[in-house]
Amino acid sequence: MTTAVLPITVTKISGSRISELDESNLGFGKIFSDHMFVADYKNGHWEKAEILPYGKIPFSPSSSMMHYGQAIFEGMKAYRNVNGEVFLFRPIANQKRLNISAIRMAMPVISEELFMDGLLQLVKTDSNWVPTTDGASLYIRPFLIATDEYIGVKPSDTYKFMIITSPVGKYYSEPVKVLVETNYIRAVEGGVGFVKASGNYGRSLYPAKLAQQKGYHQVIWTDARHHRYLEESGTMNVVFVIDGVLVTPPLGDTILAGITRDSVLTIARDWDIKVEERKISIDEIIEAHRNNTLQEAFGTGTAATIAPICLIGYEGVEYGLPALNSTSYSTRFGKELEGIRKGRIADRHNWMVKVC
Ligand SMILES: *Cc1c(COP(=O)(O)O)cnc(C)c1O
Repeated sequence: MTTAVLPITVTKISGSRISELDESNLGFGKIFSDHMFVADYKNGHWEKAEILPYGKIPFSPSSSMMHYGQAIFEGMKAYRNVNGEVFLFRPIANQKRLNISAIRMAMPVISEELFMDGLLQLVKTDSNWVPTTDGASLYIRPFLIATDEYIGVKPSDTYKFMIITSPVGKYYSEPVKVLVETNYIRAVEGGVGFVKASGNYGRSLYPAKLAQQKGYHQVIWTDARHHRYLEESGTMNVVFVIDGVLVTPPLGDTILAGITRDSVLTIARDWDIKVEERKISIDEIIEAHRNNTLQEAFGTGTAATIAPICLIGYEGVEYGLPALNSTSYSTRFGKELEGIRKGRIADRHNWMVKVC
C-alpha cells in the first residue's frame, strides 16, 4: 500500500456564482458552492484527486451504482464562528463512519489524509460560501459511488469519491409530529441500518410519504421483529427525556451511529444528566405519557441538529408533548452545540477543526 499523499489538482471556476447567494433564503440542499472534490479509484488504489468547478459529470448507463446501489454518503457541516473563521465539526468522525459504510458495502476505504486533504482544500477554496447568519452553515456531502461499466453483480473495481457543499439554513422551522411506524421497517439485524447507504433512504421515502399524507412530518421506525422498540426518527437518532433521564436506543446493526447523538450524550454526561442507552418500547412511552413523566422527545442529526418532537401518533391515538422552554434539554443542547460551533462556548472535547 502506498502512503504517499495524493496531490490535488485545482481547476478554478472562471466566474464565481457567489453573488447569487441570498443568505436570507437558503432553504436546505438546493444551492451548491462553486467547486467540488473528485477522487478516482482504479487499479486497487486512489489515483487522482481534483478540485473542479461544480458541475455535471458524465456516467455510462451501465455504471454499477445506478443498478445495484453501491453508493454511500456522509453529512457534515462547516461553521463560521464569531471571529469570521471557518471550522468543521468532528470531521474525523465522518471519515471513520464513511469507512465503516464502505467495508459493509464492499467498497474501498478512504484514508484520513485523502479525506481531510480534499475536505479542507475544498472548503477553503469555497470559504466565502460559509454563511454568517446564526443557524446557517455550509452543509458538506462527501459520497462514494461505484463506476464500473458492468451490469454483472459484483463489487465494482472503480469508484469515485466526491465532496459537494451547500450553504443551508434551518432544516425544520417548527417542532415535528411523528408517526410510530408498525408496518414498514428501516433496518433489520444483519442488514445495513448502521451504514449510511443511499438505499436506506430510498426505501424510507414511501412510508414517510404515507405518514405525511396523514399530517405527520416523519415516522419513528420500530424494530423489524416486534414493531415495539423505537429505533430512529426518520433519518435522525431519537432521544426521550423520561423523568429527568435521557433515554436513547443503544447502537447496533439497526441504528446509525449519529455524531450529533454522540455529541448530545457527551454534553449530557458533562452536565451530570443521567443517560441510558437501552431499548425503549412504545408501551413505555405511552405509560410515561400517561403518568406525566414523558418530558421531551427529539431527533438528533447534522441537518437539523436537534429536532424537537411535539406529537407522537400511534395506532390512531395522538400523544402530545409539553411545550418547550429555555430549561428544556432540547433547547439547552441546541444552544450548547451552536455555541461551541460559533466559538462562543469553550470546545472542551476538541470537536472543532479549523479550515481558515
Ligand atoms: C445520518 C443519519 C443520522 C444522523 O447522524 P449525524 O452524524 O448525527 O448526522 C441518524 N440516522 C440515520 C439513519 C442517518 O442516516
